[in-house]
Amino acid sequence: MLTLKNVSRRYGDARTGTLAVSDLSFEIGSNEVVTMVGPSGCGKTTVLKLMAGLLSPTDGSIEIDGRPVVRPPEEIALVFQDYVNSLYPWMTVAQNVDFPLRRKAPERAIRRERVKTAIDSVGLGGFEDHYPWQLSGGMQQRVAIARGLAYQPKMLLMDEPFGALDAQTRADLEDLVLRVRDTFGVTIVFVTHDIDESVYLADRVLVMGPRPTFIEADLPVVLPSPRDQIETKELAEFARVRGDVYRRIRRSSEAMRTEATRTVTA
Ligand code: ADP
Ligand code: MG
Repeated sequence: MLTLKNVSRRYGDARTGTLAVSDLSFEIGSNEVVTMVGPSGCGKTTVLKLMAGLLSPTDGSIEIDGRPVVRPPEEIALVFQDYVNSLYPWMTVAQNVDFPLRRKAPERAIRRERVKTAIDSVGLGGFEDHYPWQLSGGMQQRVAIARGLAYQPKMLLMDEPFGALDAQTRADLEDLVLRVRDTFGVTIVFVTHDIDESVYLADRVLVMGPRPTFIEADLPVVLPSPRDQIETKELAEFARVRGDVYRRIRRSSEAMRTEATRTVTA
């Protein structure tokens, strides 16, 4: 469904700029949950923004269903980590969820129905008329997810969406993401730096190497569905993949540190 071919992205000019992504190629299949995990600053957000058409590649090509991504495609919605700043404080929950739909599905009755379904599916029925500041952090992030769902994207890109939440809320929202995939048949790319989360959610884990980022490993996760926060994590296969991801990340962080030391002492 989404293809990146030899994609590079540089910030700034060729001599002094930062090469965040270099010669990256991969494909995301329809209805997959693909997680991306890698060290901070390696280029994960840059990759998501490229996929969302919010940044253009310096080199290479990105296609969605065979068409080049040149501007944000209608099929894609993005959920950011920073939900506090991604909701409009002067709008209610329902108005926030409705906002991006105004351009896409102009008919009021259709919009109202979609907004309601999305709000219900994240468990916020009854909070339609609340304002973001009247909600907890987990509830605000649910609103951001509902907004993405109401848009009915084919693909949902999520950038470390649960980083700031407590463990229980985070677990609930992870399960919500999996339910959403099953209910709406949406393809999900989920960036996280939490290794357990990357394995728990995924059909495939992309372990990203240090900047300029590349795919260090593309690991299939063969775990039964539906997943369960306790039972799935007790399975030998979960432990095996988790260990594999962990070792690869530790190796690349060590490589980064060695590189940094060499630069400092040179
Ligand atoms: P990650 O999401 O993995 O933490 P990012 O994609 O945000 O990494 O950043 C990758 C690299 O690109 C970092 O070194 C960062 O400083 C740099 N970078 C990101 N955005 C910009 C920007 N708008 N201008 C200049 N450099 C940037
Ligand atoms: Mg990031």
